Amino acid sequence: MNLSENPKGLIAALLAMLLVFIGAVLYENGFITEELYLKIISAANPGISADSELEVHFIDVGQAECILIKAPEKTVLIDAGDIGYGKTIERYLRTEGVITIDYFIVTHPHADHIGSAADILRKFPVAEVIMPEIPSEYLPATSLFEDFLKAIKRKNCVLSYSENGRKIELGGGAFIEILGPAGYSGDNLNNYSVISKLRYGETSFLFTGDAEEEAELLLLGSGADVSCDVLNAGHHGSSTSNCAALLKAADPQYAAISCGYNNDYGHPHRETLAAFRDFGIGYFRTDYDGSIVFGSDGKTLEIFTEG
Ligand SMILES: [Zn+2]
Repeated sequence: MNLSENPKGLIAALLAMLLVFIGAVLYENGFITEELYLKIISAANPGISADSELEVHFIDVGQAECILIKAPEKTVLIDAGDIGYGKTIERYLRTEGVITIDYFIVTHPHADHIGSAADILRKFPVAEVIMPEIPSEYLPATSLFEDFLKAIKRKNCVLSYSENGRKIELGGGAFIEILGPAGYSGDNLNNYSVISKLRYGETSFLFTGDAEEEAELLLLGSGADVSCDVLNAGHHGSSTSNCAALLKAADPQYAAISCGYNNDYGHPHRETLAAFRDFGIGYFRTDYDGSIVFGSDGKTLEIFTEG
């Protein structure tokens, strides 16, 4: 923003930052209630709420992933961005009025998915963490993963392994069904990604984490119903995921790609975008669009983007 072009906008942005800062200091020192703190943050960040019965937010966390599902009665978080995004995610969730996370699905233990998971566990009550069961020899020996496990223990929340076929009720008839990983046993952590499908009325969303083609084909082989209206593009839009067989079976109307501007991996790959176009899939990407929000009333979808 340029001061000479938009001085009012700059002043408003600075005032909003100041308000959030003062609110945080007052809340952290016990001068105001959490409720008031949330109101201050909401006032400072009008956000991009779809104001629908069910919302799916692909939060812009750069070259990483973090998805918020606000269902009629429950709140779900899928992954928590990379290291250093705790504040960004916390602010986004607070702006959206999130107080408690009912289910925290951690697709797989790579840094761009669990990077700020321990921060989130520290900042929000989390009822249950769901992660894939990975053979111990392939579990990462990183301090990041250890911190994540320690945070789960400290917060005393339930830790469950993903179980295919499990249906998680989210209120108002909305539910998430766990579909994968579907029998992968190799050493590629991406392919252990928890795959889940959210349904609300006639609308549905498929989340595949970083599952690559081998895992996508195992999923299709398992007979899972992958049809959806919105596909969370696999592996940040990589050409090693989003294979034609999956796109054909899923037949989504839209895809949402979580990727960072000018990232080192070239995500989303040109081949993936071409495949989306070939299959008539309209796509949004967080590097250009910012956070992407889908709202559903059970019949139709609304789409909001920051950009
Ligand atoms: Zn990733």
